[in-house]
Amino acid sequence: MTDAHYDAVVVGGGHNGLVCGAYLAKAGRKVLLLERRAEVGGAAVTREFADGFSVSACAQWLQQLHPDVESDLKLSRHGLELAARDLDTIALAQDGAHVTIAANGVSGAALSDRDAERYARFSRQMFKFARLLARVSERRVPQLTEAGWRDRIAMLSLALGMKRLGRADMRDLLRIGLINIYDVMEEHFDNDLLKGALSLDATLGTHLGPRSPNSVISFLHRRMGEVFGYRGPALVRGGMGGLSQALAAAASACGVEIRTEVQVTSIDAAADGVSGITLAGGERIRAPIVVSNADPKTTFEILLGLANVEAGVARRVHNYRMQGNVAKLHLALDGLPDFVGLDESQLGQRLVVAPGMDAMELAFNAAKYGEYSPNPVLDISIPSLSDDSLAPAGSHVLTALVQYAPYSLKAGWETGKEAFTQLAIETLKRYAPNLRETIIASELLTPVDLEREFHLGGGHWHHGEIGLDQLLVARPFPGASRYAMPVPGLFLCGAGAHPGGGVMGLAGRNAAREIIAHKPGKSRT
Ligand SMILES: Cc1cc2nc3c(=O)[nH]c(=O)nc-3n(C[C@H](O)[C@H](O)[C@H](O)COP(=O)(O)OP(=O)(O)OC[C@H]3O[C@@H](n4cnc5c(N)ncnc54)[C@H](O)[C@@H]3O)c2cc1C
Repeated sequence: MTDAHYDAVVVGGGHNGLVCGAYLAKAGRKVLLLERRAEVGGAAVTREFADGFSVSACAQWLQQLHPDVESDLKLSRHGLELAARDLDTIALAQDGAHVTIAANGVSGAALSDRDAERYARFSRQMFKFARLLARVSERRVPQLTEAGWRDRIAMLSLALGMKRLGRADMRDLLRIGLINIYDVMEEHFDNDLLKGALSLDATLGTHLGPRSPNSVISFLHRRMGEVFGYRGPALVRGGMGGLSQALAAAASACGVEIRTEVQVTSIDAAADGVSGITLAGGERIRAPIVVSNADPKTTFEILLGLANVEAGVARRVHNYRMQGNVAKLHLALDGLPDFVGLDESQLGQRLVVAPGMDAMELAFNAAKYGEYSPNPVLDISIPSLSDDSLAPAGSHVLTALVQYAPYSLKAGWETGKEAFTQLAIETLKRYAPNLRETIIASELLTPVDLEREFHLGGGHWHHGEIGLDQLLVARPFPGASRYAMPVPGLFLCGAGAHPGGGVMGLAGRNAAREIIAHKPGKSRT
């Protein structure tokens, strides 16, 4: 048992763990943060996958980081720098008739004036809806019963936000929230590429197809980034690890003690609550508060142990949906591939292969049954075009999120991995015919690799599905939605907590606020 006394131990140094630790230390708490990997950052890190070639290992687009987190923790002073910002999304067509989605509208040779004009209206309405979700995400979810004054104010401001939408938009929000992105797209647009690219934003990182319920809420979840000031995705200089390094520097400056390569094997609890943690090797560290940045299933099933919770809680943990569906492809290139119809400045934007909603739905269907489709969906970045620290001079790196790669692949990823890598490359080749000639090294991280290497349970990038049954008062599950878990002293601060995944920092910031306001012995769930 270590003698050092801490007010709080944070288990996991993902970006949310770092944010939570930093806010707690700023408020005067003595904080120890323990990370299992050799570096902090979790799914927000940079990885050298071939000699001299680096990429953002998992998260590649910075598009949701909350501006308060950035300014409160003075991240630019601690080294955060963007290599590119406000990027367009270009939906690729094999014949070069691409569609571009930019902050100021959509364009493309095959796009009708009607679609362009409707997109402007659609975009304005989605911004209003996303703003409402953003306001709810910036604080703990209000309790529906036995509300105190903080909850009452939160409920009032939510009701006011709904009212400010106006009758027509309010009706529309309630209506589309219950249908799916496929039907919403069909109501608004004709162009298949536009509908495909927008549906991708509704399904990326989830186990959803365009026709799935919950795809609209997932779309709005992503669109919160606009409310936080992102007019398009951004790239962090040095890869996403640049953000985590800045967060670690900020946390250390606030007084957080950070230890890496230490695996927490258990969160120790007695009848009256948690007492600390135990590390692999047996070292025990005492603290009245343990904050878990691990996903909810890992937190309860592995670290705490289901014997320490009531049967109802154990059942909810068991039923929590958390199976990833995305792989990550990394390519080292000895030159720029020629994408049909794109010049160099366009190559530096966000490129997507989502040729139509029906193709996407078919790809999702295969994933539902543990297979992958011959037509995966891709979200592509060539970050070395704006950041020369990532590849040797004249060379480049290409990274792509490859969607509909089921965690539980029937054939097993050991046999499926090479074939899926080649499939992803062949899919890219349809748009960049000379791609293969430029490849000098490649790597694919399957959902199983993401689980093994980054400790993302189920390989899921949100630490659990984004859906109305697992959001807001139900994230991660009812009775545990306000960071304090149903075991006194145990808190959750990662993507499995409200408001969910993405590099946003809000789960960490909100959890810290709850802990600071926490009165020992009082359950706040
Ligand atoms: C392939 C992929 C692509 C993505 N793309 C994007 C994107 O482009 N943009 C975006 O905004 N988001 C993206 N995301 C989502 C985003 O990366 C995550 O939602 C976010 O990083 C989660 O942060 P977190 O801090 O909550 O958890 P994590 O990053 O998962 O951190 C949890 C940490 O806890 C540690 N840990 C777990 N168990 C233990 C233990 N027992 N002891 C000690 N440490 C432990 C882990 O090692 C890890 O470091 C992507 C995710 C993936 C997987």
